[in-house]
Amino acid sequence: MKKNKIAVAVALCMAAVLTACGGTAKTETTKAAGAETTKAEAETTKAGAETTKAGAETTKAAESSAAGGKLVMVTNAEFPPYEYHDNNDIVGIDADIAKAIADKMGMELEIQDMAFDSLIPAVQSGKADFTAAGMTVNEDRKKNVDFTDTYAQAAQVIIVKEGSEIKAPADLDGKKIGVQTGTTGDIYAGDIKDANINRYNKGMEAVMALTQGKIDAVVIDREPAKVFVKENAGLKILDEAFTEEEYAIAVKKGNTELLEKMNAAIKELKDSGELQKIVDKYITAE
Ligand code: GLN
Repeated sequence: MKKNKIAVAVALCMAAVLTACGGTAKTETTKAAGAETTKAEAETTKAGAETTKAGAETTKAAESSAAGGKLVMVTNAEFPPYEYHDNNDIVGIDADIAKAIADKMGMELEIQDMAFDSLIPAVQSGKADFTAAGMTVNEDRKKNVDFTDTYAQAAQVIIVKEGSEIKAPADLDGKKIGVQTGTTGDIYAGDIKDANINRYNKGMEAVMALTQGKIDAVVIDREPAKVFVKENAGLKILDEAFTEEEYAIAVKKGNTELLEKMNAAIKELKDSGELQKIVDKYITAE
């Protein structure tokens, strides 16, 4: 409803400007629209403040997104090339995609970093509007959040030391396997017969444990695996993947408005080739 009010206000301003100044309509229109945006933002802040006053902190993110101000994204920035720290910034494919989506929605993006297994709870509680975290779509997660259309093909792969006797997924039975807590690697490694699962907060920590000989293999997403293997001598990725998966963004269950806007933006990014450009910026073709 607020949006309609703003649209009417903008239209009225435009009409007034057109009548008053004729030729300079374009500049004036921009100014008028800008002023309206500021007003909308001010209203958002007010709504946010009232929410806080009422003590319902958790609905703040959802409120501001509905009113059209800031989009709060949560991620786990230990997952190159999708999200990682670059000095004080969180950068990567997901960060760029989220920024492009926010731009299309005319909203500001704020990215917060947290443990991977806190991401879905943060979205569920409304602390964040969405998570983009190289997150694999799976049936269990669908019970807790709604996923957008997928934007990337992914896989869990197996990293071993060069010369390891583990040559394929079937050889993992009874082995010590490192995973990142709460990831699909963690979930699906549970299906391996007699597996001894070692959980780490960061994928990189699992890889370090492998180089130190504390574990026999790491099950992790393909693109981060490539980065970690490149950074650590003596490791390799097995040819046969452990699983095939797809990534999507997750929003609070039932937030159809945000889901639909994001899906529309993702479609535009795919159709225009912009999405591929973002991927190419971070992943060089082999
Ligand atoms: N794709 C995996 C998952 O969704 C891992 C994601 C990650 O570690 N950021 O569980």
